[in-house]
Amino acid sequence: MFDIKKFRDTPTPFYYYDMELLSNTLDAIKKASPEKEYCVHYAIKANSNPMILKFIAKNGFGADCVSEGEIRAAINAGFPAEKIVFAGVGKGDSEIDFAIDNGVGCFNVESLPELQLINEMAINKDKVVNVALRVNPNIDAHTHHYITTGLDENKFGIALEMLDEAITYCLKQPNLHLIGLHFHIGSQITTNEPFKVLCAKINAMVEHYSAQGINFESINVGGGLGIDYENPDSNPIPDFSSYFDTFRKNLKLSKGQSLHFELGRSVVAQCGSLITKVLYVKEGLKKKFVIVDAGMTDLIRPALYQAHHLIQNITSSSSLTETYDVVGPICESSDCFGVNETLPVTSRGDLLALRSAGAYGEIMASQYNCRKLPQAIFN
Ligand SMILES: *Cc1c(COP(=O)(O)O)cnc(C)c1O
Repeated sequence: MFDIKKFRDTPTPFYYYDMELLSNTLDAIKKASPEKEYCVHYAIKANSNPMILKFIAKNGFGADCVSEGEIRAAINAGFPAEKIVFAGVGKGDSEIDFAIDNGVGCFNVESLPELQLINEMAINKDKVVNVALRVNPNIDAHTHHYITTGLDENKFGIALEMLDEAITYCLKQPNLHLIGLHFHIGSQITTNEPFKVLCAKINAMVEHYSAQGINFESINVGGGLGIDYENPDSNPIPDFSSYFDTFRKNLKLSKGQSLHFELGRSVVAQCGSLITKVLYVKEGLKKKFVIVDAGMTDLIRPALYQAHHLIQNITSSSSLTETYDVVGPICESSDCFGVNETLPVTSRGDLLALRSAGAYGEIMASQYNCRKLPQAIFN
């Protein structure tokens, strides 16, 4: 892990980023996807800390953005505009305007009315805009209800039944250039099975449209590769080889077709930890509580998705263990990081690490309870 002495005086809580692990993770992705047809975009929403973004941009990745703010952050970090994709179910008028003016590579469009608006704005600006249609493939990603996105009932994407209409519309508009289809079935997917199902659906669709003379330059399979939240030290880098192999083996690319990936969590989750100080160890009637100075405002995943992050006491030298509920200071019962956690005997002043907090941690922080946003520290 990291040299605790170096950070003894840093105000807590803080995010700690292991840039060497991030670097090794990016290398692993590049090594597992050497084909020039494979384009990996980083999904900025997972973590848009400027240092992290600059580092990922420098390594040659593209960026997947879901708001004007994210596009600005990507451009500032050095991602070339043509390698930026603008996705999202509710793009605002001024955001679309900004994206067209800045020459983003592609819009991933999620509805017919959005397509019409982009077309109108492209006509007004006398520009041709690249679009991909986000399809809702109705696949169960077997992940948490709140992070599955590819089912019929989800708000995301264009239903298969309505895709013909959207494609026909694009083909009639000289200011729209339809480059491909986009999919994203969910997040924290830990088996390859849902991706295999996705490949089969895509093959069938591409074949179907090809028979009508409609061919796509690019297929975008989204992100969603999961990480090992319980064993961050034994699995610091996700199995990218097996992930890319799944597509290599199961997805039929036609000649000249490129395959886009939009990985977020799997790129940045393991390089980050939230470091927090123990304020009090409180004896309840039935339980012992470790009350820490970080809360759901600094890492909301446990409260929002019932997620669990590995908790480690990084300063206790006790060889004895004790069972605690680890809770934050926020005035919400959901402000709890762990129930019945086994930790070395813990005392006031100890530092705990909430691991795997690099994705959907810092970026989702809020100032609820008028709290300060924690700072980020890099090794
Ligand atoms: C969130 C999101 C991603 C990234 O998902 P991860 O699970 O973090 O890899 C990719 N594409 C789209 C469209 C998304 O909404």
